[in-house]
Amino acid sequence: MEMEKHKRDAAALLEKLAIAHGAPGFEKKVREIFRQSVRGQVSTDGMGNIFHCKKGEKDSPRIMLTAHMDEVGFAVQSITKSGLVKFIPLGGWWSHTLLAQRVRILTGDGREILGVIGSKPVHFLSDAEREKVIKLEDMFIDVGAVNGEEVEKELGIQLGDPIVPESPFATLANPDLLMCKGFDNRVGMALLIQTMNLLSAKTHPNTVHGVATVQEEVGVRGATTAGHSVDPHVAIVLEGAPADDLPGMPEEECQARVGKGVQIRLMDPSAIMNRPLVDKAVLVARKKGISFQKAVRRTGATDAKAIHLHGKGVPTVVLGVPARYIHTHNSVIHLEDYLSGLRLAVELIGELDHETVKGFTDFEGEREAGGTP
Ligand SMILES: [Zn+2]
Repeated sequence: MEMEKHKRDAAALLEKLAIAHGAPGFEKKVREIFRQSVRGQVSTDGMGNIFHCKKGEKDSPRIMLTAHMDEVGFAVQSITKSGLVKFIPLGGWWSHTLLAQRVRILTGDGREILGVIGSKPVHFLSDAEREKVIKLEDMFIDVGAVNGEEVEKELGIQLGDPIVPESPFATLANPDLLMCKGFDNRVGMALLIQTMNLLSAKTHPNTVHGVATVQEEVGVRGATTAGHSVDPHVAIVLEGAPADDLPGMPEEECQARVGKGVQIRLMDPSAIMNRPLVDKAVLVARKKGISFQKAVRRTGATDAKAIHLHGKGVPTVVLGVPARYIHTHNSVIHLEDYLSGLRLAVELIGELDHETVKGFTDFEGEREAGGTP
């Protein structure tokens, strides 16, 4: 592959996707980018998942290549008489990361109202209060209104409106290190779009269904219905994986180092990946010289949770781009890890023919094979 060109395309696509707003249940802008970026027909389902199919040499096996569109956000819970906005989380936030951060409240009439997350000022906190993590329900968003009526009538903010982090896209001193909100999972979305487009120019012995799902961050809800439209034989989930190469993490447990390649996830509490499929991904990575890191995670979940349980069961693997500080206003990824993920997705799909995929679930064949365990 002409990696320099893919790298430039990737950086532009990543920026476009990362700055797009898409709280869980409000993925319209990301869906629009998917619609414009993949070449050809798309369809949607009742949840808002969006599908695009790339037919290869054969109709089958059907490969589901998938990423979630949503990012962690919030929703308006109530508006105080004094004109402050109380909110609930949509997805997993840690309140330490939120104080004094900027957010946008997206109104029904299309406005993006700027606000700042406030709480009781440090000057007025007791010693005991200073030691505690402030709860989300004790925070509020200040949009600069004088009363509740102004918030509702003039700014058009209503209960249930989505709220997203406000954070510009930037590169660090190393231009391959990109920083923005939302890389979980816009990095997966970029991988999905670029892989689908690269497959247009490549033969593959299968049909690939690109699926962008909704509402992963609130409990893999889009992925729960997405399998029905595709009924896949194999699924590859593309993710922004939390990086762990930071102080406070035991050295020997680091499995998502920024700049060390794509993560091939073997298991987490939500899914034990199909082992022959994982082995295939590792083999392909070795053969093609693609940097990768294997991971067994103590915590976390992805869309694999729902997809591997679809129908009679779907062999599934998760490929992740390590991302520092996900679920905050400023996550950081390495473009080279992204490119490793892109190459692995494309090369792996190229090897998923009928025989190979059948082998992933050959639980009959294991009888003759014998041996242990
Ligand atoms: Zn994610």
